[in-house]
Amino acid sequence: MTSYLYWVVDCKNPECESPILLYFLGPHNPSVTHVLQAPDTIEAKCMSCRQAHTYRRAEIHTKIGSPPPADFVPHPRIHPSAG
Ligand SMILES: [Zn+2]
Repeated sequence: MTSYLYWVVDCKNPECESPILLYFLGPHNPSVTHVLQAPDTIEAKCMSCRQAHTYRRAEIHTKIGSPPPADFVPHPRIHPSAG
C-alpha cells in the first residue's frame, strides 16, 4: 500500500489536536528530501473542529497518511523548494 507525505501542523485546540494538512508532497519516498518554504507564521484552519490558529514555521512537520481528500486545498503560503 502506498503511503503519502504531507506537511502538517497539529491543531492547537486541546480538545481536537487533529493534524491540519497544509501541503501534499505526493507518494512517500524515503530517499527524497523536501525543503520547506514557508513564512515565519501562518494561519491555518482545522477541518475537524473549524478553529483557526496561528502557527510558527517550526511547528510545521511532515506526516505520512492516506491519499488526500478530493476537496483538499493546499495552504497558499506553503511550498517545497528544489533540493
Ligand atoms: Zn481542530
